[in-house]
Amino acid sequence: MKHTPTTVDSNVIQAVNEALQRFASNHHGKNASYIPYLADVPSHLFGISIMFCDGSHAEAGDTGYAFAIESISKVFTLAHVLDEVGPQALRSKIGCDPTGEPFNSVVALELHKGRPLNPFVNAGAMATVSLIRADTAQARWDHIQATYNAFAGRDLTVNEEVYTSEANSNQHNRGIAWLLQSYGYMHAHPMEVCDVYTRQCSVAITCHDLVTMGVALANGGVNPLTGKRVVAAKNVAPILSEMTLNGLYDTTGDWYYKVGLPGKSGVGGGILAVVPGVCAIAAFAPPLDVAGNSVRGQLAAEYLSRTLNLSLLH
Ligand code: GLN
Repeated sequence: MKHTPTTVDSNVIQAVNEALQRFASNHHGKNASYIPYLADVPSHLFGISIMFCDGSHAEAGDTGYAFAIESISKVFTLAHVLDEVGPQALRSKIGCDPTGEPFNSVVALELHKGRPLNPFVNAGAMATVSLIRADTAQARWDHIQATYNAFAGRDLTVNEEVYTSEANSNQHNRGIAWLLQSYGYMHAHPMEVCDVYTRQCSVAITCHDLVTMGVALANGGVNPLTGKRVVAAKNVAPILSEMTLNGLYDTTGDWYYKVGLPGKSGVGGGILAVVPGVCAIAAFAPPLDVAGNSVRGQLAAEYLSRTLNLSLLH
């Protein structure tokens, strides 16, 4: 069912504006530089959005700036694959446990005989892409694109500059893709999968898109703006489990301690938090901490969680 957005409470608008003001002058962290394009995105950009399950929302800052979705894409590809194969297959072929290592760790793969452990490290994300039932790279991509568009409620596009930058510098991910194949966890051609994965990371989204994509998860799998179901209701909890345990890589525990919500970050500077049944929070600020998570994005989410009493642990 399509909701008619109501007006957001003034305390929500105030909290979003306050979060922006408080943290805008925080200059900690650094843009990702291993993907050359990302190093050049203006570091001062900062946007915060919150959207409730009725579609009402409040935003502040650079919420219309299009940035690379990067690892947050892994959430939405997972949604599609869960709809195709179901949670049991996903758990046995990939898993739902932290690796305790950085998102692009080869050591983690070696330690677990090639099992990626979760779909949010690069290895697990590529294994997830390989599970999509498709005979060609184009068909694989079409599934991904249709899913992202349904979540966002509009047609998203790939930032070709990001894609080219990343495709020219993704030798490490290509290595991971071949390793996965050698261990039997890659279910399509490794180079096709790595390329489709690189393309999904290069999709351009705004903070407004991200919060819309996230609120569909808060809303039981239905995008409240279009009224369309974008993932089966039974697959929402598995997605939120993965976000709870693995959303911010090897510092997910720190995040959960402070924010108390399932989250997901990307090296493009985006970050998403989901409050089941209530709302989603999205933030965008390019400088990252050492684990690869937006510094200001985490602070904004923590502030909103605390101020609006959104933590699942309270
Ligand atoms: N495209 C990036 C990579 O594969 C995504 C990583 C991320 O956002 N953590 O390295």
